[in-house]
Parts: sequence; C-alpha cells; structure tokens
Amino acid sequence: MEANGLAQQPVILGATDALKKKYLEPMTEELQMCAYAVTEPGAGSDVQALSTTAVRKGDKYVINGNKMWITNAGVAKWFFVVALTDTEKRARGGMTAFIVDADWPGVTVHKKEQNLGQRASDTRAITFEDVEVPAENVVGVEGDGWKLAMAAFDYTRPAVASGAVGVARAAMEYAMQYAMERKAFGKPIFSHQAISFMIAEMAMNIDAGRLLCWQAGEMKDRGVRNTMQSSFAKAFCADMCMKVCTDAVQVFGGYGYNCEYPVEKLMRDAKIFQIYEGTSQIQRLIIGRELFVRGR
Ligand SMILES: Cc1cc2nc3c(=O)[nH]c(=O)nc-3n(C[C@H](O)[C@H](O)[C@H](O)COP(=O)(O)OP(=O)(O)OC[C@H]3O[C@@H](n4cnc5c(N)ncnc54)[C@H](O)[C@@H]3O)c2cc1C
Repeated sequence: MEANGLAQQPVILGATDALKKKYLEPMTEELQMCAYAVTEPGAGSDVQALSTTAVRKGDKYVINGNKMWITNAGVAKWFFVVALTDTEKRARGGMTAFIVDADWPGVTVHKKEQNLGQRASDTRAITFEDVEVPAENVVGVEGDGWKLAMAAFDYTRPAVASGAVGVARAAMEYAMQYAMERKAFGKPIFSHQAISFMIAEMAMNIDAGRLLCWQAGEMKDRGVRNTMQSSFAKAFCADMCMKVCTDAVQVFGGYGYNCEYPVEKLMRDAKIFQIYEGTSQIQRLIIGRELFVRGR
C-alpha cells in the first residue's frame, strides 16, 4: 500500500484530470497496485545519474532503459516512470515522468528479488525496450520529472517513517511480554535494571519518532514546506526502528536469534527503512542542505 502511495503521489501532484481519472479513479473502486519506477542499476541515491531515455516520435515517446528494486513491480497495473528527455539538461528540466501500463509491448518485469526482510513485498527489476507511450501519459509537462519524483517524498516519507514506528512498537511489545515471563537469577528479567532501561529507551524513542511523523504530516496538511521535517522523521524512525528491533532480539537472548520467535523477523524488516525512499545518509544530506543552503 505504501508503494502504491509513492507511485500515486506525483500523479496527484502533476497529472491532468484526464490522466487522474484514467489511472487513479479505478484505484478508489477496486484493489489495484501501481509502482514508482525511478531507481536504476546505476542510479539509486544519485537519481540524477539515471540513464533510461524517452525519445519523442510524433504523438508518442519511445522509452528504453532498466529500472531496479521496484516495489510492487510484479503486481502493478501501471508504473510511474522517470526518463531522460534531454541528456544534457538532466535534472534541470531534462527528466520527464510518464505513466506506463505494465502490459504494454516492450515492458518486461523480471523475477522477484529475495530480500533480507519485508519478504511479502514484491521487488523486481523492469526493462523497457522500445516501449511506445502516448504523449498524453506524460505526468505534468515535459521536463517536470525530477521535480515531481522528488516532491512526492514530502508526502510519503512521513508515512514510511510511521511504518518504522509500527515495526518498532511491535518489537517493544514482544520484548515487554517476554521480559515479564522469562526468569533469570530467580526473577523476571524486566526486574534486572539493564533490561527495563533498554525497554524504557525503546518507549522514549518510539514516542519521539511518532511525534516527528505527526509533525511532518501536520505541516503538509497545513500546506507548509516540510522537506526537512520529513527527513527528520524518515531518518530518526528508520534508525530508531533498527535499534529497537536489535535490542528486542537482545531481550529475548538466544530465543531472539531463532525464527520460532517474532523479533528476528522484525529486525530483518527494520533494516530496509534505512535504505528505501532515500537512505539514512541521504536524509542527513537533505537536512544539511535545508539548514545551510535553503535556510540561508
Ligand atoms: C526492497 C527495496 C525496495 C525498493 N523500492 C523502490 C521502489 O519502489 N522504487 C524505486 O524507484 N526504488 C526503490 N528502491 C531503491 C532504493 O530507493 C535505493 O536502493 C536507495 O535509494 C539506495 O540506492 P542504491 O541502492 O543505489 O545505493 P547507493 O546509492 O549506491 O548507496 C550506497 C551507500 O552509499 C551511501 N551514499 C550514496 N551517496 C551518498 C552521499 N552523497 N553521501 C553519503 N552517503 C552516500 C548510501 O547511503 C548507501 O549507504 C528499493 C530498494 C530496495 C532494497
């Protein structure tokens, strides 16, 4: 669902009413999936390095290139795709966004990747080979691709961060339950201060993360620029979730390391929050830029 939101957001922001009606309206009526296809084998954090091209031919564009790590790719009805329409200008007006139907000729969706965590999520590579896309499927106008692809994150990063809060909360709840049941040295392990302090840290940080999500979301609802606060929420909650889940495994001791118990799964699921929708390093880069460049 979160991947649906990521693909839909730039369409909500930039598409014509006709395009919204065609691609978004059916999603309000039945269960449908879509995917945000921006990352490439050679362009992840550095989106500006992408090499997929879209060449205008009459009333169509012809797309060629490879996308990588696309969530929902195997189940999506359509893709939000960013391609170069001007290889010189690139992010300065040379990238264009398109909606591409998954079943159009020339679209190949590859095998499901075997990932560390969030394994129910469908992540695949996609190849576009001479895919003809009608010009009316451009989202916004030619050259808007970079702007739209990035603008979506101000809406979706608080939501991803909320997912991390949820995973962390689950890990904490399992850890609390276990700490009350498991005995060591004649008493429940929560009464060993090292354990209760670890869980107290979890509770504090989960609450702090939740408040950062709410702050970023509330600012967006008011129409206030929230780029920095979205990155606060995304980076803090992803890193917090990883720490909380690792500590939950610690509370479970040897049982935490075993797949009979739920916390090892949560620890694996947590890791991706630090990678997708901009890594934890990239969030800090954005925060630095907002503070020193934009703020000034
Ligand atoms: C499971 C999964 C699902 C995904 N879903 C999608 C999707 O639906 N759509 C989509 O378009 N993409 C998706 N992605 C791609 C994801 O957004 C990228 O993997 C991510 O942005 C990182 O890019 P990369 O993997 O190329 O790593 P790289 O960019 O190669 O980064 C490698 C390391 O270098 C660091 N680094 C890079 N540049 C800098 C810098 N300037 N300063 C400091 N550190 C830096 C990174 O933080 C990272 O630690 C998904 C990825 C995964 C694994």
